Amino acid sequence: MRTRLFACIVNIGLALHGLPVHALDAAAGEPALASRVAPPEQEVVDRFVAAGMRDARPHALTPTERLRVGKALESLPALHRLVLEKRLRRLGFVDGIPGHGSGLFSPVAGTGQFDITLRASLLGESLGDFLTTKERRLFAPDESGLVLTVDGTGTDALTYVLLHETSHAVDRALGLTADRRSPFVDGVWADRATLVPSLASSPAAGTAFRGGEPVPMGKASDVYDALAHTPFVSLYATAAAPEDFAELVAWHVISTVHGGSLAITLRNGQGVAVSRYEPLAAPAARARIAHVEALLRRADTEKGRDALQRLLDPTGGS
Ligand SMILES: [Zn+2]
Repeated sequence: MRTRLFACIVNIGLALHGLPVHALDAAAGEPALASRVAPPEQEVVDRFVAAGMRDARPHALTPTERLRVGKALESLPALHRLVLEKRLRRLGFVDGIPGHGSGLFSPVAGTGQFDITLRASLLGESLGDFLTTKERRLFAPDESGLVLTVDGTGTDALTYVLLHETSHAVDRALGLTADRRSPFVDGVWADRATLVPSLASSPAAGTAFRGGEPVPMGKASDVYDALAHTPFVSLYATAAAPEDFAELVAWHVISTVHGGSLAITLRNGQGVAVSRYEPLAAPAARARIAHVEALLRRADTEKGRDALQRLLDPTGGS
C-alpha cells in the first residue's frame, strides 16, 4: 500500500466523503485555473499520513512558485484545461513526501470533481532527476556495476507530472479507459489492470510497477529490449490502463509541444554508456499516437468545445 501511494495514485477509491466544497480563493487577475491552486484540505494530507508519510503537511507556495504553477497549467492542452475548468476543485502541494513520490489524484465523492495534490519538492526538480529516481527503484544493484539514468528533456518535472495527472482527469471525465472498446484499451488491456496475455508475459510487465521484485541491474537491458516491443511509452505505463493512457498522452505532448525526448541509458562502472533506449520511438508505441491526436483535436474547434462542455456539465457526463 505504501509503495502504491508513493507512486501516482489514481482510481484507488480515495473518495473524500464529506469534505466541504470550499469557495476557491480566486485571486484578482489570475487565470481561471490558477485560482484553483490552494493548500490541500487537511483530510487530503491525512491520506498521505495514513499511508505512512507521517511528515506530510500543506505547502504554502511562494509567489514565484505560484506563478510557475499557473504557467504550467496554462501550458496544458486545450482539452485538459477544459476538463480542469469544469472539474478541478483544488490543486495543492504537500511537504514531507519522499523524493520518489509524485502526488495524489483524488475524486471528490458524488460531485464529478477531483483534487490533485502534488509533492512540493517537485517544483525544484528537473524532469531527468525525477524520472531517474522513480525508475532506479525498479532495479537492484549487482555485480554488473551498471547504473541507469533517465534523460527527460523539453520540460520540467512539474509540467510532466501535471500533464500526467490531468490526463487522468481527462480519462475519467470522458470515460476513456473504462471502455474496453476504447482504442486506448483494446488489444492491450483485458481489464483495468490486466494485460492481454501476449503483453503480460513480457519482461517489461514484470517490474515493481506491476508488483514484481526489483530486477538485477544486469538484467535491465532485457527489460528495456522487451519494452521496445510493446505499445508502452514507459515502464510505468504497464501499471494499469489509466497509467498507460496518462503516460501516452503526457509524452506525446512533451514530444510535440515542448520538443522533448525520453531516453534510458545504462552505463558501466567506468561511466561508459553501454545501452541506450528511446521508448517513444518504438513502432507499437508510435502506432497509438494517432488516437491521442484525435482525442486532443476534440477541443480544437468551437463545436467540439461546446460538445465537451455539455458532456462535462454537472448535469451531463460522469
Ligand atoms: Zn498516474
